Parts: sequence; C-alpha cells; structure tokens
Amino acid sequence: MSAYVERNLWRETTPERFEATPLGGDASADLVIVGGGLTGCSTALHAAQRGLDVRLLEAEHVAHGGSGRNVGLVNAGLWMPPDDIEAELGPAVGAQLNEALAGAPAAVFSLIERHGIQCHAVRNGTLHVAHSKSGFEDLRSRHEQQVRRGAPVELLDAGQARARTGTAAIHGALFDPRAGTIEPFAYCAGLARAAVEQGAKLHERTPAQEIRHDGSAWQVHTSSGTIRARALLLATNAYHDSVSGVAGPAFTPVHFFQFATTPLGPGQIDRVLPGQEGCWDTGTVMAAFRRDAAGRLLVGSIGALDHAGSGLHRSWARRKLAVLYPELKDQPLEHAWHGRIAMTRDHLPKIVHLGRDGLAIFGYSGRGIGPGTVFGAAAAEALASGRDDAFPLPVLEGYDERAVGMRERCFEAGAVADHVAWMGRHAFA
Ligand SMILES: Cc1cc2nc3c(=O)[nH]c(=O)nc-3n(C[C@H](O)[C@H](O)[C@H](O)COP(=O)(O)OP(=O)(O)OC[C@H]3O[C@@H](n4cnc5c(N)ncnc54)[C@H](O)[C@@H]3O)c2cc1C
Repeated sequence: MSAYVERNLWRETTPERFEATPLGGDASADLVIVGGGLTGCSTALHAAQRGLDVRLLEAEHVAHGGSGRNVGLVNAGLWMPPDDIEAELGPAVGAQLNEALAGAPAAVFSLIERHGIQCHAVRNGTLHVAHSKSGFEDLRSRHEQQVRRGAPVELLDAGQARARTGTAAIHGALFDPRAGTIEPFAYCAGLARAAVEQGAKLHERTPAQEIRHDGSAWQVHTSSGTIRARALLLATNAYHDSVSGVAGPAFTPVHFFQFATTPLGPGQIDRVLPGQEGCWDTGTVMAAFRRDAAGRLLVGSIGALDHAGSGLHRSWARRKLAVLYPELKDQPLEHAWHGRIAMTRDHLPKIVHLGRDGLAIFGYSGRGIGPGTVFGAAAAEALASGRDDAFPLPVLEGYDERAVGMRERCFEAGAVADHVAWMGRHAFA
C-alpha cells in the first residue's frame, strides 16, 4: 500500500479562515444549497445579494472538495478549444458559452477585489506551454481560434516562453493575459465569508442525507434538522456523498495530484517563473506548474496518490522538477495532496433539473474556478426568477454517464503508464 499522508498546502496556509456551526434544528429558507465548494458558495453569495434567504449545508468544511485542492489557475473558457465547444453544442449555444466563460477570470478577480478576499490573487496571465513540437501546433490552432473571437492572447516562440518561465524544457507557449492564479482554498473560504456577510446562513459538518419535494417545497433532511425551501441547488460535484431522494451527479472520477517544494531561496526565485504566471501543458496526460506566494514551486498531473502504484507519480514529480528546473532537483517536496475531478464524456459541465425550482450543477471536467463562479451567479438568478436562460448552457432534464468504473481505471492506468514512459525518456535528468 502507498504511505500517502495528505498535506494540502492550500488548506495549511490559507490566509482566509472560515468556520460555521452545524445545523441545529429545523429551519425554512427561500433557497437551500447542498455543497460548500465554490459553486455552492458563489450561488449563496449572489442569491443573498438578491435578497434571498439562503441556507447552505456542507458535509465536511467549506472547500473540502475540488475547490480547496485545485491548482488555482483562473483560466478563460474551458479546457476544450472554443471551436470544439461550438461543434459539440451547436454554433449559437457554443458561442454563448464561450463568451460567458471568456469573461470568467474578470468575474473571479472582481469578486476577490469587491469582497477583499485574501487569496494571493495574481492576475499576470497563464501560460499554456507546449510540451513538444506537436504540442506547439495545438497552441497555434488554439491561438488562431481565440484571436478570431477577439481574445488578447499571444503566441510565444520557444525563446520567448523560456525567458518567461525560466525553463528550457518547453517549446513555446500561449499567453492569456485575462487569466491568473489564486490560492483556491482561500478563495472559496472568502466567498463563504462574503456570503455570510450578505446574510446567507452556512452550516458545516452537516451532510444532507435525504432530499424530497413535498409538493409545495423542498425538504433537505440531515441528522440535526430539516431545511424546507422553495428552491434547491445540489452543488456536490465530484465529492458527492450519497443522498437519497434525488439523482446525484453523474461523472467519471479522475484524480489530479500536486507536490509543492519548500520555499525557494532568493537566488532561485528570480529564475523560476519570475512573472508568476500559472502554467499548464499540452500533454495528453496534462501537467501543471506554478509558484505560491511564499515562493514554493508546485508541480502536478493526473493521478491519485493513495494506491500501491502511486509512488510512480511521486518519482515523476521529482523528475519533472529536475527537467523543468535542474537547479531544483534536490529541493525537498514538503506538501503532497490530490483531488477528484468530475469528468463528463464530452468534457462539458452539466446543469440538470431535479424537479420544480431544483437544479444540480456538476461535471466541470477540471476547469471549475471560472465556470463554477459564473454558474453560481447564474444559478442565483435562475433560482430567484425561475428562468433557465440565466445560464449560458441549456438545462438538461437528466444526465447519465456510462462505464464509469472502467473509464476511471483507464484514466489512472493511462496516467501511470504515461508517467513511466516519460521518466524513461528523461532518465538522465
Ligand atoms: C486537483 C484538482 C486540480 C484542479 N485544477 C483546476 C484549476 O487549476 N483551474 C480550474 O478552473 N479548475 C480546476 N479544477 C476543477 C475545480 O477545482 C472544480 O471544478 C471546482 O472546485 C468544483 O467546485 P464545486 O463547488 O462544484 O465542487 P466541490 O468543490 O467539490 O464542492 C462540493 C462540496 O459538496 C460537499 N458535499 C458532498 N456531498 C454532500 C452532502 N451530501 N451534503 C452536504 N455537502 C456535501 C463536499 O464535501 C464538497 O465540499 C481542479 C480540480 C482538482 C480536483
């Protein structure tokens, strides 16, 4: 078995602290939200701002799920290029989603500013880096698609990208100045705090156990009380704990791990991502790297750290560090953690009707900071007004995902195989 002991850097170092007591008895509200990640917290904040009486129930603590574990890249759009999104959804809906998510980083950074959220936000852009010459061709195509839509993106050749990142191990990059980085746990905790300041009531350590509509309102039952509300949002995504009475989110669980070094010294910090852009690459098994505010370097990729073969991911991380920045090959790795991504088969998020004034949102497929924030604001509008057209995506009557267990095993086995092959190609780093 693996000797994995989780140390989530974001949770340990968060500058924003948020605590809420469990639900203590029955209550009623206009809107009950299940799940205290950034979809739930963004919805709570925006709904409370609209004057709704909001209750949010979180099974563990705010930011327990993907929202407190992610890389913190606040990107525009989804992982899929915009032409593919329009091909999948049709030109009109695809264009609407592309446009809404092009503005997602602006929505995130303006919320951070407006509510004074302490999450070390850095809006210096992100770099989508080419991990190979063919990866650069992918970036060239993405660049062309974005420019056609008026995005201020810039294609950097190998020399420019190397100067920008301080690593010789990349073949070019696509720079997006709209984007940036945040410390995700702190961002989510800050949204929760802002929601409470606007009048929302949040309860941690309060798992929803059963959800029913009694003909006139939703009833969310927990072991310490029941909330009765006209409207319901299920925002449990990849961390959904079983709840009876409603269909849970359907997705394939895919893990993503991260390792963080100890803080770099003054001589090193000037050479490693001096502009502090967040980076992700063009690999089929995607890798990401960035710095935090204390000067640690983080590297991560697809994979879980809690199974017998996961030592290979740790070896990959060590080697990746040495290939990207040879002077860091012996830099200690102090933090290691992973998180679960809700992947859908078309890589598009899903918004699903659960019944009258009831919605579930899930399936961000690894790109949820901007989309979760934007969909949270839209959910507040939709659930206040009863209008589904508040969302930039159609609301579905149901969604199912097939062969989930097999696809999950394929993702993990594929990531291990890819990391082993990559280490073989970089054996002397
Ligand atoms: C490792 C990793 C890296 C990622 N990197 C990025 C990135 O760099 N950029 C980006 O945009 N996106 C990234 N993502 C995706 C992004 O983090 C997620 O899409 C987003 O956080 C989802 O937010 P959420 O609020 O919908 O779900 P979550 O944050 O998972 O929140 C769901 C919450 O529901 C609670 N819950 C579950 N069941 C119940 C119940 N029965 N009762 C009450 N509460 C319940 C859980 O405890 C959890 O807190 C990454 C994801 C992971 C895992």
